Order: sequence, then structure tokens, then C-alpha cells
Amino acid sequence: MQCPRLFFYKTILGLRTPPSEATLRGTLAHYAFERIFDHPVGERGVDTALGYVDAAWKVVVDPLCERANVAPDSFESRLRDAEERYRESHTPGSPGEKRLLEEAESARALVPDDRLEGFLETARSVVRGWYSMENPEKFTPAERELYVRAEVGPATVHGFIDRFDAIPGACGTAHHYVSDYKGLALDTPLATPSGWTTMGRVKVGDLVIGTAGRPVRVTEKTPEQRLECFELVFDDHSRVTADAVHLWEVVAPVPGVYSTAEVSAMAQEANVYLPGCEPVRFDVANLAMPAREAGRLLGSREILSPFTPEYRTLLAVSRSSQEHRLELLTGLLEVSAPRFPDGVEVADEAVRDLVSEILVLAGLPVRAWVRDNGAFRTPLTLTEIERRASESDTIALRRLTSIRPTRSVTTACIGVDSPDHLYLAGRGLVPTHNTGKKPSPRFTDEAFFQLEVYALALAESRAVSTRQLRLIYTNEARKDGVLTRDVTPEILEKTREKIISVWDGIALADRAWHDANLRGDEAALEKAWVTKKQPLCDWCHFGPKHTNVCSAWNPSLAGMLPEEQELRLTSRPGGHVVDESASD
Ligand code: SF4
Repeated sequence: MQCPRLFFYKTILGLRTPPSEATLRGTLAHYAFERIFDHPVGERGVDTALGYVDAAWKVVVDPLCERANVAPDSFESRLRDAEERYRESHTPGSPGEKRLLEEAESARALVPDDRLEGFLETARSVVRGWYSMENPEKFTPAERELYVRAEVGPATVHGFIDRFDAIPGACGTAHHYVSDYKGLALDTPLATPSGWTTMGRVKVGDLVIGTAGRPVRVTEKTPEQRLECFELVFDDHSRVTADAVHLWEVVAPVPGVYSTAEVSAMAQEANVYLPGCEPVRFDVANLAMPAREAGRLLGSREILSPFTPEYRTLLAVSRSSQEHRLELLTGLLEVSAPRFPDGVEVADEAVRDLVSEILVLAGLPVRAWVRDNGAFRTPLTLTEIERRASESDTIALRRLTSIRPTRSVTTACIGVDSPDHLYLAGRGLVPTHNTGKKPSPRFTDEAFFQLEVYALALAESRAVSTRQLRLIYTNEARKDGVLTRDVTPEILEKTREKIISVWDGIALADRAWHDANLRGDEAALEKAWVTKKQPLCDWCHFGPKHTNVCSAWNPSLAGMLPEEQELRLTSRPGGHVVDESASD
């Protein structure tokens, strides 16, 4: 509910937005999470759940398939049986049926046949991830896809709870849990003195690498969050995904420490530069052969086996000293020269990626690799290597070339004990700032707010007291991929107040819209449902990158939606339902 205009489009006008691959994947996985509990304990293995993924795809793309055409007792027939119950109200030619057919068409268009198997595999991996976090053999939910509805002050709230568990407590009373499945990852690579780790695995006390190329100790780590995320791409082709509140040290155009969201806004106006970093100083590793000789062999046009001494040397050099890196690159440059005088050439994709990593660790520029006649080529000169060896070269700043919203992932921040508060993140070793301020509660609270609304609805409509809310990040594939929040009377009271306050805002906007409509006041109509222009508009179905009908981006009234035109002069102020499922 961050953008009032988006609420107007989705909830008041009831406009549906087409699915994305992420929502489709979630739909398939949800079918598996739900239907696995139809099977008796002892028959709830992962293979059974995986069977529902392919079946769910068939149901999504062919929702009205004749039952006679489906093999009896197959996963698909079980799913269609269950779906039939939901679809009771969908009579032939009804709006419900039309919507199902539109969704099927969107899904087919989004995932064409040649990409289907790869897409289904990503949905299967979400299901496998869930099995490494929870074991459905050990519990049976009290309810699945539980519909709740309650009056909260002047508003009606309603929605579907993914899973409602009632676990018997010590004194005979049941403890209730409200769970929601999420599908995300926490995989930003971090360089350490002994190789790579990830933001998900790093712990307080571990060593990562600071901008001086030396180890710095992790002193704190924030809880994992699911926030709005951005992908940042730099002029050396390195990329990092960061959440909106992550901090960056900016050296130009306006030096200071800024959040990703602030950097995004700054980048709309000017080029943004981050500091460069010194070469990473790892200890000298034992090598299977001299680094320069390995470089010369790597530059031959042979595809390499990982068991050769030169390949093992390449791996060791990526964890070794600056001297070893520069020797290997020199050997590679020498042998590439007859074929490609201005850089290095390798035949193998794995070698290409490791050479890129060595260039980054050495503080040398990583330029685009071009595929030529089966080999991979990138520019590099001996002068650059020599200047880096003598350390007479200054470290280049990193220019941000693009920043855009991307798939939301679970993130965390760490604090380090380096004097400049910076550490290097991502395969491209991008300098990134210590966690210095708590992430905005707006982001974390939003994920839980929906569940708090459900807990309140359960309390109001069924006198059920919920003990805990659980966000299950199924892609995490780890026990700690489950975020929890205990429910207290204070939380429920705050939720009630928030719903009423949101409702008051909606009622005000709704009234202003209808009054303006009756007066025929176009300017006031436009202002009634406020637009909230933000980087995430790029993602919004109504924003500039999609239908471009939102007047924040398209001020022309010609962009007005047909549904909005129809609503004008035909409706009167009245109650609307706060539908959480439509606002997330
Ligand atoms: S494009 Fe932006 S301002 Fe317009 S409805 Fe979407 S989120 Fe709101």
C-alpha cells in the first residue's frame, strides 16, 4: 500500500496485473506445498511434492481441460479435483472463466515451450528448498489457504493464509502459527582471505576484505530482511544486488554515505562514482607450477581439464599473492600476442571467469570479453600489468552505469572494523559501506504486516489467538530461512490502528475522487489518488516501462484507463474492502 494510485488501480478499479515468472513460479510451488498434505504421513516425500509442479503447470495453462482427458489418480487429476472446488462459481462465459483463460494465455506467453523445462526446474528447486527447511512428514497443518475475513473498525479486511498450524501446547491448549511462503536467496559473494563466502554464511568474527586489500573483521550482522532490491552495474561490468537501505560510500557527484534508494535517485541526475579498491593481498600459495608458465599454457587454444597442473595453478593463483597474479597474466598475455596483440585470449569459459576474478583481485580493469572464432578475448596491456606491479598506478574510481529495481531477495548487512568502514562485496569486489543505521522498519514491517492483519482477522472473526507469524523463504534451503515474529496484544492493537488509519486515508481519497467527478473537476480528480513516483515505478504494471497509463509518468489524459472512464459519473462514494491480497 505504498502508492495510493496503485491501490486505486488494483483495488478500486479491480485491475489485474499480468503474472511475472516469479509469481508463476510461486504459484506452482504453492500448489505443491498445499497438496502434499492431501497425502498420508509416510507418503509426503519430496518426489511426491515435485510431481505437483509439472501438473500445476498443465492446470495453469489449460484450466478448463475436460476431466476425461486427464489420467485418473494422476497428480494432475488430484490437482484438478481440488481446483474444481475453488472454481465452483466459475460458470461458462462468466468473468471468472474469462480471467482463468487470460491467465493461461499470459503464462504461455511468458514461458514459451523452449524455456519451459528450465522454468519448471526453478520451481522444483523452490520445492526442494522447502524440504530442507521443513519436513511435511512431521506435521499436518490445521488449515491450508485459509480464507479469513473480519470487520476492523469501519474497514473489512480479508485474504488467504497460506498455512495455519495448531500445535498442541504443554497444558492441552493449541498454539497457533500463521505462515506465508516466500521464495528468495541470500547469495552475495564476499571475498575472504581463504576464498569466497556469501553474505548468508558470513558470521561475526569472520574475516572479509577491506578496500586496502587487507582482511577486516566482521563485527556485527543485521537480521535477514526481505526488502525492495536494486541491481547495480558498474563500468567494469561488475554487478551487485543490494536492498534499498544498504549504504554506499559515494565520492562524486556529492561525496557522502547514501542508501541504495538515494543512490538510485542521485543517478537519475548525474554520474555516480564509488571509490576503487587496492589489490587484494592474500598470502602466497603453493603452486603446482610457476605462475607465468601456467599462464602460457592457459593461453593455448586447448580446452582445459580441471585435473591439469596449469588449471590447478590457475585456481591456486586466484587465492594467492599479487605477484603470482601478475606473473600468470603476463604469461597469458605473451602467448596470446600472436593471435590477439591487444589483450588475452582463452578457449574455455571456466578459465575466462577465473581470469576475470584474478584481474579484479589484482586491481586491474576488467573489460568486456568478446567471443571470436570460439575463443574469448579481453583487452589488457603489459604496461597496465607493469604499472600495477610497481604500484605507481592510481586505483580507478568505479562509475555506476545502471541501477534498477530487481527481484526482491533476502538480504543482510555486516559491520566491519576497517577505518573507512568499507568492505568488498560481490565477485567484482565492489566497495560497500558498513551497516551504519538500522534498515527502515517500513520494509521489514511490510512483510509481516500482512500476516499481522491475518492474526487480527483470526482473533476478531474466530476468537483464535495466534502465537507466532512465520515468513518461510523457500529458496533459502536453510533452517534459518524462516523469519518469525511473536504476536502480542500490543502488535494486534497497532495493526488495528494502522488498518483504521489506512482506511481513513482511502475513504478520504475515495470521497475526493467522487466529489471531483460530480463537479467534473479534472484537476481535482487527478489529485485525489496521489501518485508516488519512485524507482519501483519501473516495475509497476501501470508505470513507464509497461502500460504507461499512470499519470505520474504520462500526464496526458489520453492515458486514462477505460475502467477509470467507465467509473466516472457512474459510481458514488461507498465502502471498499481492504484486500491485502491485492495490495502486496
Ligand atoms: S507507476 Fe508509480 S506512481 Fe504510478 S501507480 Fe505505479 S507505483 Fe504508483
